[in-house]
Amino acid sequence: MMLPVDIRWRCFREMLCVAFGLGVLLLAGCTVLGGIQRSGAQAVPGASDDALEGGYARMRARLSGEFQDRVPCQWGQAVDGVLTRLDTDHNVMALTFDACGGPLSSGYDAELIRFLEEEQVAATLFMNARWMLANPDAFRALAAEPLFEIANHGLLHRPCSVTGRWAYGIQGPSTVADLVDEIELSGRMITALTGSRPVFYRPGTAYCDDIGVQVARSLGYVVAGFSVLGDAGATYTREQVRDALLAAPPGAIVILHMNHPEGQTRHGVMEAVPLLKKRGVRFVTLSEGVDLAR
Ligand SMILES: [Zn+2]
Repeated sequence: MMLPVDIRWRCFREMLCVAFGLGVLLLAGCTVLGGIQRSGAQAVPGASDDALEGGYARMRARLSGEFQDRVPCQWGQAVDGVLTRLDTDHNVMALTFDACGGPLSSGYDAELIRFLEEEQVAATLFMNARWMLANPDAFRALAAEPLFEIANHGLLHRPCSVTGRWAYGIQGPSTVADLVDEIELSGRMITALTGSRPVFYRPGTAYCDDIGVQVARSLGYVVAGFSVLGDAGATYTREQVRDALLAAPPGAIVILHMNHPEGQTRHGVMEAVPLLKKRGVRFVTLSEGVDLAR
């Protein structure tokens, strides 16, 4: 049975606080289960009950045991197992917008989203827990919009590493257990609010190692990369964004950002979309695109 939105939202906010507390505790070297217990999660239904009963901890321990002796041999944004394009002959494009969160990356480009809605452009939105915490009203509205698919962009926006590798100045988890927390806690938060579990996970920075990809798969996620750099972390000019979109081949997965309204991303998107529509391009969510590829 689906809970009313207000109730789900209350649960979600509580879970966000719990998980954010967890992140801090993790950084301080505490265990996840201990963090949940100390955060008073007994009042939170769902994941917290699961954790207190040991389900989450057992799952985490099982995956740690399964992968702890595995040594990664690949590192990058397109390692084996990462979905980087839609394997289809249809004239489709998957626009993906990351909401990375954190002190400098929790903005909300509401004008961009309004444009997508007016133009009926489907898109996949990769949500980081910190962004959701900073933008609860926006998240609630986005989750209720059928045009958009909500996807998982991690708890603390860390690369998908099991050996503590760095990308863009951000260190990834150094253990399988920490990586499970990075992926799964934010996934559970999204599930708590939307009522459905996200299908896709994109690591913070989009960097991963091949063992991390397998861990994510074991948790039930498809790791989503990209084939077209749409805004280079929202640093592209309007022209660069527009030209990147116009040059994208059929089946492209384009990575863009919705958390930097001060950037030029939306301007380039707003120029390119009408031109792409004239070419007959259809915009799809990642799930729709993957279905077409079957
Ligand atoms: Zn990001």
